[in-house]
Amino acid sequence: MSVPVAHEEREKTSHILTAVVIGAGFSGIGAAIRLSERGIDDFVVLERGQEVGGTWRDNVYPGVACDVPSILYSYSFAPHNWSKIYADGAEILEYIQRVVRERDILRFVRFGHNVVALRYDEDEGVWTVTTDTGEFRARNVIASYGPLANASLPSIPGIEEFGGTILHSARWEDDHDLSDKTVAVIGTGSTAVQLIPHLVRRARKVVVYQRTAGWVLPRRDTATPAMARALFERLPVTQRLARSALFRVAELSALALVWNTALTSLVAAAGKRYLRSEVEDPWLRRQLTPDFRPGCKRMLLSDDYFAALQADNCELVTWPIARIGRSGIMTCEGIEHHADVIICATGYEVTKTAPPMEIIGRQGRSLNEEWARGAFAYKSINVAGYPNLYFTFGPNAGPGHTSALIYMEAQIEYAVELISIMEKRNLKSLEVSRTAQEKYNTWLQGRLAKSTWNSGGCRSWYLTDDGFNATMFPGFATTYRRILEEVDLHGYLATGDLATAISPSGNRQSPAPEAARRPASRS
Ligand code: NAP
Repeated sequence: MSVPVAHEEREKTSHILTAVVIGAGFSGIGAAIRLSERGIDDFVVLERGQEVGGTWRDNVYPGVACDVPSILYSYSFAPHNWSKIYADGAEILEYIQRVVRERDILRFVRFGHNVVALRYDEDEGVWTVTTDTGEFRARNVIASYGPLANASLPSIPGIEEFGGTILHSARWEDDHDLSDKTVAVIGTGSTAVQLIPHLVRRARKVVVYQRTAGWVLPRRDTATPAMARALFERLPVTQRLARSALFRVAELSALALVWNTALTSLVAAAGKRYLRSEVEDPWLRRQLTPDFRPGCKRMLLSDDYFAALQADNCELVTWPIARIGRSGIMTCEGIEHHADVIICATGYEVTKTAPPMEIIGRQGRSLNEEWARGAFAYKSINVAGYPNLYFTFGPNAGPGHTSALIYMEAQIEYAVELISIMEKRNLKSLEVSRTAQEKYNTWLQGRLAKSTWNSGGCRSWYLTDDGFNATMFPGFATTYRRILEEVDLHGYLATGDLATAISPSGNRQSPAPEAARRPASRS
């Protein structure tokens, strides 16, 4: 991406951009598209890597694919004729790159900028965005850094002593010949069930270390039938109908996975039946039988995981890992298992107790400190004390039953709407009120307490160590979308000219009561 130096210098120094978007993954690119469609083009997307694509750029492990049907796991405004029901990672990345090209989004992206700090200047109503190479100033910041951007190696004693190769699934290096290697895989989550069948085909031996058995259902992946592809091509409305039908089916599954209902028992029965049909050995079946309710952790969808575990060159170890030594992994019963390569499919440093950068808001408050015991926000997007800052995939924005992109699009619309309102009304700042935020979170946490994530008998990355749920939205995607459909300015405090603010529906809003009490300059 070549940017005229003078232009970039202007961005970095005195010029106040309308917005900085952090991250060029699905949500950052989506935000850029919607901003430019709304006629806002004085913004940049800061991306620490050298390519767009976020998690789909980073995750290139063998078998990487989406476990949500691709028709649903794509932008609603940019349909794609997917080759498979569950597209591979490479096709998803190509899709993102195509959308970026077609929408001419690269002109906004500044690669090689790792954002390390955000600081809000209350007098100016401006964020200073500090990257490892410079500074940008902007009225608004859309934080689209993604909750699963930073891979986490497990803190197992002795890990640094290991004499072989250690890889993380999200930092895959394809240049290792595994054909004569014993490969240890730590983890049996969504990533591992995709990766292990491929490793079993590539490596001499694979030893899988399972801490918790998950619920597995068949994915039943196939190529998209040629007839369907032709139909989608000729009559795009049929693809929209298919998407809508899939959306409804997924919504139904919330009844099984978000709450404990009769449908939950049906899912458990289906999981046990699938396990019985795939695994003959009763002891292995027992080891693979989950001890928590379906939905408490992410459901695992795979057609070949159980078969891979039973391959002659694969072994499942369920003893807890005690430590890692120079030549392998020691389990609690005192056996040392040799390994040439250790692959950690151990997930991410999920942003549930701190943002991945320092964020300093009004009056010097620190979001890192405020979120230390668990992240929270208003509608997952705004946080009181941090005006003009919007999160995508923010606190409590995750689904357990459908495509996260549906939630993400609603967040982008909401954030872009607020930014448009600020632009139209020439506002210096818009900040959610603490009252609105507290009311929302009281409602949210009340519902979460009854959800399977909080009470389904498991520990997952959805919860903090104290059991606080800072990640998931407790309900249907339809409910979430409805909550975000209308921007209610009564929940916001403003500086600038809010008196004539227009609601998204075009109705005149009376000034937010809190805003009316505020002196025009700043609270
Ligand atoms: P994950 O769900 O967090 O699973 C990590 C696995 O590593 C778990 O089995 C965990 O065991 C195990 N583990 C972690 N630390 C360990 C330790 N110290 N010792 C032993 N085992 C340890 O991570 P992931 O599989 O990478 O998936 C993360 C998220 O990425 C998913 O929930 C999903 O949202 C997303 N994802 C999506 C797709 C997709 O197709 N859309 C694919 C992959 C990932 P415990 O269960 O006992 O904690």
